[in-house]
Amino acid sequence: MIEIKNLHKSYYMGKNSLHVLKGINFTVSEGEMVSIMGSSGSGKSTLLNILGILDEADEGTYTLDGTLIKDLNEKVAAQYRNKFLGFIFQSFNLINYKSALENVAMPLYYQGVKRNIRTEKAMHYLEKVGLADWASHLPSELSGGQKQRVAIARALASDPKVLLADEPTGALDSKTSHEVMELIQGINDEGKTIIIVTHEVDIAHVTKRIVNLKDGIIIDDSKVTQVRAKAEAYV
Ligand code: ADP
Ligand code: MG
Repeated sequence: MIEIKNLHKSYYMGKNSLHVLKGINFTVSEGEMVSIMGSSGSGKSTLLNILGILDEADEGTYTLDGTLIKDLNEKVAAQYRNKFLGFIFQSFNLINYKSALENVAMPLYYQGVKRNIRTEKAMHYLEKVGLADWASHLPSELSGGQKQRVAIARALASDPKVLLADEPTGALDSKTSHEVMELIQGINDEGKTIIIVTHEVDIAHVTKRIVNLKDGIIIDDSKVTQVRAKAEAYV
């Protein structure tokens, strides 16, 4: 599904440059649930942004679902993102003046799906994350956990090949984090490929494989025994 070879990325600021990714190699197969771990500043988000076609590497290759991702103009990059990828962010990134339902329907709007089908599909995914009753509410009327559920429904709405999550529980308390991870595990159980960036060890262990980043290289990449997330344990 994903193949990354010898990826390098530097940031340039005037005369200074910062070599963040120094030759990253890994592959992710369909249906995997992988976490990318590393301390703050280790390049996790940089790597995820490249995987998400939000940024481009300086060197190396990235193949997504058999398509080489290289030198895309913004329009094509947006099309690929819409077709292949669903995003979940720490800060939810919902549109504040749109309802939960409208937020979930957004990716479908960009895919040119007709309004009634959009609404129907968005409602289906809101039901899936347990928020059907909150469809008409604004993000400001929802708790952090509910906002992240809406964001997950939005990420799923376009039926992407891969879900990319950058610190999806970073703004949530322990109980809510485990609720959200329970939901994400369920989505992976259904076969969706998922990559999660986190610096929290217990969140990483809810996945099936941990890739450890340090100083711009992968220092460890191991399959782990998946711990089932259990929100009830925190009541
Ligand atoms: P992580 O997500 O692991 O905390 P990041 O990938 O965000 O790490 O950042 C890795 C390093 O690159 C950090 O030192 C950060 O300050 C730097 N960095 C990230 N984005 C930029 C940018 N757009 N311009 C310059 N430096 C950046
Ligand atoms: Mg980060």
